[in-house]
Amino acid sequence: MNPTRRQLLLASSLASLTPGFSFAVTPAHPKVLIVGGGWGGLTAASALATQADVVLIERNAAFVSLPLTNRWLAGLDDGRRMTQDYAAAARRFGYRFVQAEVGQIDRAARKVTTSGGQFAYDWLILAPGIAEDAGALVDGDRDAARHIELQFSSTYQSGPGFPALKQKFENFSKGEFLITLPPVPYRCPPAPYERALILAQAIKTRGLKAHLTVIAPGAPWPAYQRVFNDEFRDQVSYLPNTAIHQLDPYRQIVVTDFDELRFDQAIIMPPQQAARLCRENGLLAANTSWVTVNPKNFTIFDDERVFVIGDSVGPVSSLFGHYPKTGELASDMGRIAAAEIISRITGKEAPPMLPESTCFAYLSLQPAQFTRIESRYRWRGDGELTQSITQKRESNPRGEDDAWVDAMHARLFGTA
Ligand SMILES: Cc1cc2nc3c(=O)[nH]c(=O)nc-3n(C[C@H](O)[C@H](O)[C@H](O)COP(=O)(O)OP(=O)(O)OC[C@H]3O[C@@H](n4cnc5c(N)ncnc54)[C@H](O)[C@@H]3O)c2cc1C
Repeated sequence: MNPTRRQLLLASSLASLTPGFSFAVTPAHPKVLIVGGGWGGLTAASALATQADVVLIERNAAFVSLPLTNRWLAGLDDGRRMTQDYAAAARRFGYRFVQAEVGQIDRAARKVTTSGGQFAYDWLILAPGIAEDAGALVDGDRDAARHIELQFSSTYQSGPGFPALKQKFENFSKGEFLITLPPVPYRCPPAPYERALILAQAIKTRGLKAHLTVIAPGAPWPAYQRVFNDEFRDQVSYLPNTAIHQLDPYRQIVVTDFDELRFDQAIIMPPQQAARLCRENGLLAANTSWVTVNPKNFTIFDDERVFVIGDSVGPVSSLFGHYPKTGELASDMGRIAAAEIISRITGKEAPPMLPESTCFAYLSLQPAQFTRIESRYRWRGDGELTQSITQKRESNPRGEDDAWVDAMHARLFGTA
């Protein structure tokens, strides 16, 4: 579809007013570059593959399905679905996969520089997940921050660290284990509690001379507070509303509002923020560590050719702030960004879409019981985005969590 003269005049006057703005004239072979092969990026790539030349760039060779990691740690999943092959997904859907680290984004020239060369784009979707700021826990001491990342990793991002986490759990036989939670917002809020539950269960059933302390800066999570009090009174101390004042990762001491605690082993979860790629390319909103986007289609505000989706996204509503940082929500954002690009390619208006989130978190391992957290959204008449959350305890799970994983993986990888 060729733009009319009036459209071109409007585009050029907008372009002169807004740096980075460019009218979306449909190129003969539209190129979409997607950075980040997580839940958001993979979904966008599969949704766009038949409409454009799609290149997905990801630093890791293989995908790790984070929602499965806790169940695998608990021995409730054999781990076969946990790691997935990027190249196979790209072949199934018909896009190109490139394993590389993306560095500089040149929005004026519409190209990105990677460890594997330069790539041009007509539209760019950034889905790089999160970064963690361990320096914030140790007054910016880089060596101490690195020590935390290496010795007490949160293991909260895709990558090769999960076997080491399993070893850490299995090797822990006595003493004090510490889990510290980050401030909100952070991805999949119940997941650290689920990990605490797995460890508490191991301490109890193996009869270890060991203890777990869970420190959370935020309000208590009632369902887990009940579980820790009722089932693991001798194994777990849960300290919500507790700030960490000092952390010495070498001497393994943490000082809180109330106490000083020495630990033998730990999972330390630093504050989370938008991925480094966003920060290094000047995409963070002023005074925040997240990216501000148009919540209707996830474009950044001064460049309609650049989309940011997934856990890097900042607040979307003055009523509830951030979308929950979950895989399903990131994936739905990928669908919405893809629909917007398809509408620009085809000239047909994108259907109105809103994301959803479903999260399963175990409250008991023996017998298996979980809570299902569903978040749904709608635009209110005054243009505000509203959120409703339901949380249901499922005392007799019948494989709903497994079915959810399979359905999501089918979307991401084209697996049956
Ligand atoms: C233990 C745990 C349990 C969870 N359970 C659930 C659950 O039950 N349900 C649910 O919906 N969600 C769950 N989540 C959350 C879910 O995994 C995340 O919300 C989801 O991964 C976010 O998707 P994303 O695409 O934004 O980021 P990610 O999935 O993190 O993907 C980002 C990708 O970008 C790549 N990348 C970053 N920067 C660059 C760069 N410069 N160059 C190249 N590649 C780059 C990264 O390597 C990564 O693969 C869980 C998370 C954890 C940690």
